[in-house]
Amino acid sequence: MSDCVFCKIVAGEIPASIVHADADTIAFMDIGSVNPGHVLVASKKHVENIYALDDATGAAVGRALARVARAIGEAFSPEGLSQYQANGKLAGQTVFHYHVHLVPRRRDDGMKVDWPVRNPGRDVLEGDAAAIRKALQQEAGGR
Ligand code: 5GP
Ligand code: ZN
Repeated sequence: MSDCVFCKIVAGEIPASIVHADADTIAFMDIGSVNPGHVLVASKKHVENIYALDDATGAAVGRALARVARAIGEAFSPEGLSQYQANGKLAGQTVFHYHVHLVPRRRDDGMKVDWPVRNPGRDVLEGDAAAIRKALQQEAGGR
């Protein structure tokens, strides 16, 4: 899958602002960010969409989602956190690799968010990633 952008991020072939990685999952800042703190949680394994997802990988992504969501809550104190996932072109999927969007929400966002609305620079994404990594470390240290 040499042309898959998320496989390249997993392999370290293209840069990303990574907030979490374990044996099965990787989480990094979305370059086409809807709101500050917008993270993508993906399986390391190339799984195109939820129809192709095996139970073990689904469970691993679910665990990573919960951990990263708590860390985003800690780092950004959003009033809400939306999870989005597109499966298939007609559902709006643009990267064919299993992943879930975690999007911090504020009261003034309304029900709908424009998608995507901003492309922060690498420095901003790195700063946001560092804040989330710190919250993850604090949580791990507190266990
Ligand atoms: P989808 O539309 O498939 O649910 O979401 C794909 C997401 O991947 C988009 O929000 C897009 O901004 C993000 N994305 C695409 N290429 C890259 C990349 O090279 N790096 C990062 N960090 N995100 C990417
Ligand atoms: Zn892939």
